[in-house]
Amino acid sequence: MTMHTSTILLIYTGGTIGMIKDSDTGSLKNFNFDELLQYIPELNLLDCDIDTYSFEAPIDSSNMCPTYWQQLVTIIEKQYDRFDGFVILHGSDTMSYSASAVSFMLENLNKPVIFTGSQLPIGDLRTDAKENLITSIQLAALKENNVSIIKEVGLYFEYKLYRANRTTKINAEHFEAFASLNYPALVQSGVNLSVNYNALLVPQNKPLLVHKALESRILLIKMFPGITRETVEHLLSLSTIKGLVLETYGSGNLTTEPWFIAALQKVIDTGTPVVNVTQCSGGSVVMGHYQTSVALKKMGVISGKDITTEAALAKLMYLLARKDVQQDFKTIYETSLRGEMS
Ligand code: ASP
Repeated sequence: MTMHTSTILLIYTGGTIGMIKDSDTGSLKNFNFDELLQYIPELNLLDCDIDTYSFEAPIDSSNMCPTYWQQLVTIIEKQYDRFDGFVILHGSDTMSYSASAVSFMLENLNKPVIFTGSQLPIGDLRTDAKENLITSIQLAALKENNVSIIKEVGLYFEYKLYRANRTTKINAEHFEAFASLNYPALVQSGVNLSVNYNALLVPQNKPLLVHKALESRILLIKMFPGITRETVEHLLSLSTIKGLVLETYGSGNLTTEPWFIAALQKVIDTGTPVVNVTQCSGGSVVMGHYQTSVALKKMGVISGKDITTEAALAKLMYLLARKDVQQDFKTIYETSLRGEMS
């Protein structure tokens, strides 16, 4: 493995990594990106040229939304030929959602796009920000025979690079804030960067296609014992809903109450896609395995297989906005497009 000088674009969207304590209120707020860089003089030691771009008003990622995702892919599209790789600093709270969405929006990606952030601000003595940022840049710069090794959207946190659309935030306290239960880490950072070559996406050598349209009028319902008929019927009768993700139990099971099945059938009859994902952090939906999912299979509910909820929502937003896939929606949804499902 050799490292030639690479050019990296570092994009700052906000998040804890660039926050400081407000002396009046004690709460964390964003501060200037240039100040952030002053905290990491080590960046100058890296064998790559780093350029930076900051959101005009950096945000806590709880305020993240598709407009910002469109902004992100637009920057990448504009700068795609100028840089070897992209590192996106983002709050950890919604990082898996954003990174999943960006993975779908960038078709035929042939360069690394690495999301990272931190649990503690960069100015904090015990911060995890430095390691996360420095290694993310090294990963984005990693080349073999002058070609980038990582050619997909990744998420780096606490010594592991994951495929971004396989991740979920699992901890608000530990430095190890993310997990990818259904797919192995792409790279482990130790004394060396150990690349799991077999796990990497091998994209086709085609020009980058950037999809900016997303359909946000979708709904996520998490099943729980006791969910009422009124609630379900009210939500499912909303005419504005263009797609539905159901977070079901175990391997894709839910109540067999006739009123629930009837309400779902109505949605499907209007041509609105319904996706079945499991509430379990790991494992897969297998409709028909239990009697409690047979009706879903018969109705034509889409299997999310082992996709995360974050990626399922992003994929739904992305595919609903693609006019050219509406005919074969179910088949295309059930196909892995960016390595998001097994
Ligand atoms: N609330 C912060 C955010 O997501 C947390 C973090 O950055 O880790 O923007």
